[in-house]
Amino acid sequence: MFHHFYDDKHIKGQGAISQNELAQIIEYYQRHHQILPALEWLEKAIQNNLHENEVCLTFDDALLCQYEVALPVLEAFDLSAFWFVYSSVITGGTEKLEIYRKFRTSCFEGIDAFYEDFFGTVNTSPYASQVVTALNEFSPATYLSQFPFYTEADRRFRFVRDHALGVDAYNHILDQMIDAQNIDLNDFSSDLWMNDRQVIALHEKNHVIGLHSHTHPTALAALPAKDQWTEYKTNYDTLNEILNATPETVSHPCNSYNHETIQILQDLKIKIGFRSNMAEPHSSLLEFPREDHANIMGKIAA
Ligand SMILES: [Zn+2]
Repeated sequence: MFHHFYDDKHIKGQGAISQNELAQIIEYYQRHHQILPALEWLEKAIQNNLHENEVCLTFDDALLCQYEVALPVLEAFDLSAFWFVYSSVITGGTEKLEIYRKFRTSCFEGIDAFYEDFFGTVNTSPYASQVVTALNEFSPATYLSQFPFYTEADRRFRFVRDHALGVDAYNHILDQMIDAQNIDLNDFSSDLWMNDRQVIALHEKNHVIGLHSHTHPTALAALPAKDQWTEYKTNYDTLNEILNATPETVSHPCNSYNHETIQILQDLKIKIGFRSNMAEPHSSLLEFPREDHANIMGKIAA
């Protein structure tokens, strides 16, 4: 499972890898696994006919850095992949999650300077006391323990973002921090996502384009079923219209799903889905495990 890549144009954010590192991962995997073309892996997965050493590559979030940095590497290896696209951003919209990521990467000396500004802004906001109360429940040893590469500061930040604040309050805090730096958002977000033509180009090159919700909520499973339905139905309709092909695959944004999500995906006739960790053996065709590239980098370095 891949997310961010960097080169001279795309900044080196947390967890981002280079073309060389992607090539190393592919070569490392090819020693003991067979990386199948995406369409072939999909066909075998649907028929429950995958060998244990047959794997595939996946890219989440429709990021322009994937298209510009990773795709040429895949082509050099003659490989194809799954690309999970949240559709709001390829139809001219923006999404705050990614803008905030670039903001915290490119507008601060380091991630700790960002965390300092973040907690400073929280402490002088109307949310200060609810955050203090929530942090009593925070346990860095157990929170997100399935993601071993997060630091304690990463866990604390994510806990406050997702559990103490919630989406609206978090966005309010970040918007305030961005305002304080006089950033032009149109210009700032112009190199973040692919456009619809690039997604079509991937589809035409026999890559597989799959669902990833419309607006990428960080906690989709916390939404009422009708809002989850709107997320996935809009995503489905948008990709169907752009590609003239019905999506058959999904990856769960931020690994967030529940039994209602699964029901919705079954109603949409989605055949194969991916989690974003290896924590549990997969229990259905909509919950294939995935290894984060950060863990693979760790294994290569070891
Ligand atoms: Zn995602």
